Amino acid sequence: MKQTLLNFENLRGDFPMLKKTMHGKPLIYFDSGATTQKPQVVIDTLSDFYRNHYGTVHRAVYELATHSTTEFQNVRFQVATLINAAKPEEIVFTRGTTESINTVAYSFGKGFIRPGDEILITEMEHHSNIVPWQLLCEDRGAVLKVAPMNERGELIMEEFTKLLNSKTKLVAVTYMANSLGTINPIKEIAALAHEAGAKILVDGAQSTPHMPIDVQDLDIDFYAFSGHKIYGPTGVGVLYGKEELLNAMPPYQGGGDMIDTVTFEKSSYNDLPLKFEAGTPMIAEVIGLGAAISYITEIGLENIQAWEHELLLHATERLKEVKGLKMIGTAAKKGGIISFAIDGIHPLDIGTLLDLRGVAVRTGFHCAQPAVRRFSETGTTRLSFGLYNNKSEIDHFVTALQEVVRLLK
Ligand code: PMP
Repeated sequence: MKQTLLNFENLRGDFPMLKKTMHGKPLIYFDSGATTQKPQVVIDTLSDFYRNHYGTVHRAVYELATHSTTEFQNVRFQVATLINAAKPEEIVFTRGTTESINTVAYSFGKGFIRPGDEILITEMEHHSNIVPWQLLCEDRGAVLKVAPMNERGELIMEEFTKLLNSKTKLVAVTYMANSLGTINPIKEIAALAHEAGAKILVDGAQSTPHMPIDVQDLDIDFYAFSGHKIYGPTGVGVLYGKEELLNAMPPYQGGGDMIDTVTFEKSSYNDLPLKFEAGTPMIAEVIGLGAAISYITEIGLENIQAWEHELLLHATERLKEVKGLKMIGTAAKKGGIISFAIDGIHPLDIGTLLDLRGVAVRTGFHCAQPAVRRFSETGTTRLSFGLYNNKSEIDHFVTALQEVVRLLK
């Protein structure tokens, strides 16, 4: 463990942003749940691509274009390996988790959802795993059902199971809740969904950066995540879908690349995955995502998970020292996310005064209003860890928080 600790302390040096100061204080960045900082290797890869190799993909025979196409397609293989997809054709590049979920809501919805069908989500979802289903239900005359959680922020499995029935066509659930840190028993949920004849989409925005993922072992039908939360660029994400499902679904958007032949009377569509990738894709961002995947896989997702668990335990323990602090989200299985409220103090004030001390935290509802409102009407203060955080940052943060609480009380 000592070796792991030593290595992780060193990794901070890979991130240029973490050498910055904020308001004259060293930056302590605790908002990786929103977006992660970028290692030098990702920044260099983007810069090298734009300086030395930039060209389009899929369309031309000249060297730059063929090089770009090869690099771009290699990342598809990398993503397939990262999440253990059966084939690279099951990997669709999107702009992020939000677009991946909207793609399924539109295309699976158009292909398979009929009036009276049900979509089952949970009370702890991010807005991007709520609103696309609401839009779909309004459009198709379907019904949205919500499985509740308990006081610790855990899904109540008996209630979830009761809500599953022959009308349930899709279960859409987060692997790790961004506001509470809860890790859901996805394998069990997938088995229950399939038993009821439903498909399952897993929102992997928070799980992908923090733990190994095996979509085949979990037996999930769709998996969505964002590049910018796994140390890669913004504007790129992934939709994984089982081949037979993606093949059976109509395309999401029309345009270049997603077609086979086009006439004014009728067009036919390209094979997977291009059927779901209309238009010139985010070429540089995909290549930057490849660099990020190499970076995290070299460190090892198991190691990242173990390190962040240590940080979670340390912070949970240390925060007991802060008077009037209430943890929000105390699930038995949690990732590196801590949400809390302090009696009589608005989270916005806490966030503002922490910023002046160099600490970046998120405050409010974290794009999960129903989940957070259930516990606090004013929202929470949230710490979310990345692989570059360490225990001394947590200690500095606790001292800063004590100071802030003294000032505000
Ligand atoms: N789901 C969860 C659980 C998230 O945490 C986020 C990002 N906060 C999203 C979905 C949306 O991701 P993006 O904004 O990158 O599309």
